[in-house]
Amino acid sequence: MYYYSLNRQSPDVDFKEATIRGQAPDKGLYFPVQLPKLSQSFINQLGKMNKNELAYEIMQPYVGNTIEKKALRQIVEEAVDFSFPLVHINDQVSALELFHGPTLAFKDVGARFMSRCLGYFSKDQHKKNTVLVATSGDTGGAVANGFLGVEAVEVIILYPSGKVSPVQELQLTTCGQNITALEIKGSFDDCQAMVKDAFMDTDLQQRLQLTSANSINVARWLPQQLYYFFAWQQWSDKEHPPVISVPSGNFGNICAGLLARYAGLPVKSFIAACNINDTVTQYLKTGIHTARPTVPTLSNAMDVGNPSNLIRIMELFEKEGLAVSTVLKSAAVTDEETLQCINQVYKAYGYLMDPHGAVAYKALEKTLPDDSKGIILETAHPIKFPDTVKTATGQEPEIPDAILPLFSAKKKSLVMEASFASLKEWLLNK
Ligand SMILES: *Cc1c(COP(=O)(O)O)cnc(C)c1O
Repeated sequence: MYYYSLNRQSPDVDFKEATIRGQAPDKGLYFPVQLPKLSQSFINQLGKMNKNELAYEIMQPYVGNTIEKKALRQIVEEAVDFSFPLVHINDQVSALELFHGPTLAFKDVGARFMSRCLGYFSKDQHKKNTVLVATSGDTGGAVANGFLGVEAVEVIILYPSGKVSPVQELQLTTCGQNITALEIKGSFDDCQAMVKDAFMDTDLQQRLQLTSANSINVARWLPQQLYYFFAWQQWSDKEHPPVISVPSGNFGNICAGLLARYAGLPVKSFIAACNINDTVTQYLKTGIHTARPTVPTLSNAMDVGNPSNLIRIMELFEKEGLAVSTVLKSAAVTDEETLQCINQVYKAYGYLMDPHGAVAYKALEKTLPDDSKGIILETAHPIKFPDTVKTATGQEPEIPDAILPLFSAKKKSLVMEASFASLKEWLLNK
């Protein structure tokens, strides 16, 4: 399998090179040259396949011959090594819980897959890979945990001081080993700008093999389609495929779902659920895309003003020769609606959602026809957003046993000014 740059100014590369580079030299996103299609008999058997077997079969065509069979089997098994339950909320809506991984957010799947691929590819390289990532919360934790102990890969995470939740900060700063947390005296946008500058800097490029770990990287993006298959395995009404509502920021998660549908997975349609950073909602309504500065909201992992994966979504529809509106709809949800929704769903059905899941629920409610049934992706555990959940319901979410050890671990971060010069100096001298 080869990947081309969506800017079409760089040569095609295989999965290994796409993973190591992250982005093409012409700054385009990589996209698969041939999109795999599944046979009808494969689709019919899906319900009976075990999770690991299914994950291997889906991922193998994308990886091609860059990873040997036995190693790839192990990589996919470790990437999906937790449960993905489809939980009934009421007769119309179920939640696909994607927060049973080690950092309680869906990004665990992509981060674990990517880290293991990069570790595999690093074995025969002279230069260490350095993963550089800016986070507003969830990405950093998943990347830190996913890459912890992976040989020949060093991970540096920039996060805005005082602007991530306590659980998120502990997840970022307590790993140690090959993970370093840089606590930046600035905003998330400052962190992101510093990382962008680092990728453009020729001195750094010569000295370090820098890689990104956001959904621009194919190794993080592609495995996210797996749990859409796991949802279908648990969907009982096979005659009527679900509408799936995906809380969207950079649109990597929903783009992976669209890829699964393209391959043949039965899905009636997708809802891109957005908070008031709704440039895509507006685009789907008016056909005009205007990037906007981000506005902070309660569902802060979706505070994105110019989603990077939109271009992949457009490419996918163009390949299929299908109007976007036939499969993809969108709705925007305010913070006030998010709080109300958390409260109402908790009161009426006893189901506690995090703010991102609540945006998905509300967007589904706004768009779902009466005779249809839908799935929301619950992308994070409510404990990651305790203040919002408490404001909405008057109750603090229970702390899951899995993260109790975090609270006795010691925070270790390196405080840094929000300037690229500081980052560069530190990177060159460490
Ligand atoms: C990252 C994130 C999202 C947004 O996912 P995208 O792939 O960027 O659209 C939604 N919810 C949570 C909890 C996240 O961490």
